[in-house]
Amino acid sequence: MLNLVLFGPPGAGKGTQSAKLIEKYHLVHLSTGDIFRANIKNETELGLLAKSYMDKGQLVPDEVTIAMLASEVNKQTDPKGFIFDGFPRTSAQAEALDALLASKETGISLMLALEVEEEELRKRLLLRGKDSGRADDLDPVVIQKRIDVYNNETMPVKDFYSAQNKYKGINGIGEIDTIFNALCKEIERTL
Ligand code: AMP
Repeated sequence: MLNLVLFGPPGAGKGTQSAKLIEKYHLVHLSTGDIFRANIKNETELGLLAKSYMDKGQLVPDEVTIAMLASEVNKQTDPKGFIFDGFPRTSAQAEALDALLASKETGISLMLALEVEEEELRKRLLLRGKDSGRADDLDPVVIQKRIDVYNNETMPVKDFYSAQNKYKGINGIGEIDTIFNALCKEIERTL
């Protein structure tokens, strides 16, 4: 199985690149942000809970996020592999993901990290807010909170995969196709 973690701060281009990667490699795409947003739209209990954190730019608690992700992974019958987008965002999530995949006799093949500097992220997120309809992209205070949460809580996940020699940083600034080709090059090396 090819199991990828697509990593990077909010606005790095994870969603855009995931869409291209799943098309090329036929992977199951699991974006925790998208799943939370679908739950908010359907007004589920999980959606209501997630919204209270997302609106403030905070992370949804690990326990809730891990249980949701595990249930999505377990739904799949005979997947070719997964692309985890926006997950794991904490060390506890990374450990839980390793344990979950190990129980299925597989593991993470590679973490691909899109590297984009903060000033560019702020610009991109505000621009995205104009047509994404995402409340968390419209408020500069919430945007900054998400970037801070990334630096403080999510960055340790990089060390987690670096220690396993699975971390690959990719320049996330440039043409979409140039970035995509750089991602594919790294993936091909693991196949
Ligand atoms: P995203 O679409 O990945 O930018 O996520 C939007 C929001 O959903 C984040 O700011 C968090 O509030 C929440 N979220 C998404 N993924 C996670 C996760 N792995 N852990 C905790 N919260 C998450």
